[in-house]
Amino acid sequence: MDGLEIVDKRFRSYVLPNAPLEKLADGFRWLEGPVWFGDRQCLLFSDIPNDRIMRWSEAGGVEAFRKPAGFPNGQTRDREGRLITCSHHDRCLKRTELDGTVTILVDRFEGKRLNSPNDVVVKSDGSIWFSDPPYGIQVDYEGGKQERELPCNVYRLDPRDGSMTVVADDFDGPNGLCFSPDERRLYIADTGLQFAEDPVQHIRLFDVSSDGRSVRGRGVFHKVSPGNADGFRCDEDGNVWSSAADGVHCIDPSGALLGKILVPSQVGNLTFGGRYRSRLFLCASQTLYAIYTNARGAQRP
Ligand code: MG
Repeated sequence: MDGLEIVDKRFRSYVLPNAPLEKLADGFRWLEGPVWFGDRQCLLFSDIPNDRIMRWSEAGGVEAFRKPAGFPNGQTRDREGRLITCSHHDRCLKRTELDGTVTILVDRFEGKRLNSPNDVVVKSDGSIWFSDPPYGIQVDYEGGKQERELPCNVYRLDPRDGSMTVVADDFDGPNGLCFSPDERRLYIADTGLQFAEDPVQHIRLFDVSSDGRSVRGRGVFHKVSPGNADGFRCDEDGNVWSSAADGVHCIDPSGALLGKILVPSQVGNLTFGGRYRSRLFLCASQTLYAIYTNARGAQRP
């Protein structure tokens, strides 16, 4: 099984020995924010240092979707299908309305400017959860150096009334986040302090409260190695498919590594898409890859 590393035999049922890793496009600077639009059969993704959102489709290949785009990072869709984008430079969450206009959803907390929202997920109740490390305002390359005003929090935003609460405040650098398929769990990556010699880097596990509005920490879920977990997604069985320095790691709900899809460049984020939500799209440094799997991306309840 070329390009696959089987750690646990259960991984064999989630991958396809005859499905190649396909290079869809390259020549980017740093890819992030993949989000699949099933109704349009296309992928949107961020090319952060080039300050643009790109679009890929089987029929049309790659084209610029928006530029400038505020140095975009993580992206998702809300319950109405609208695009939600983290913006480093503008230090906010943006929503692209169905008519194409862009709304700033939030750029402040208690009067202070957000740092540089990194990744975002929408829960089935419509609430928007996002991480806010300072990575995008510490370097010009990813958004422009700016002064930090807030700690590195993870927030829950209710877009109906604009209310926002801190759901986790003890991260060095909160990054990717993902709910389990039943939304009883929330996984959040900590990618540590930028420029630190030995930064804290792992995925933490949280239980979601019964009212769905807060979380309780249960400690470290998994430490990805080599490299670290940046963005990740769950499949229907609750496995976590995480980015890593050597590709994609598939981790079962107990935290055990099942296997890897090896990729020539570091993967920063990924998402399931395609007709059956079984095709993994990989934002891998300067290259966009895809690979068909035998798993299916989780759908929200
Ligand atoms: Mg990230």
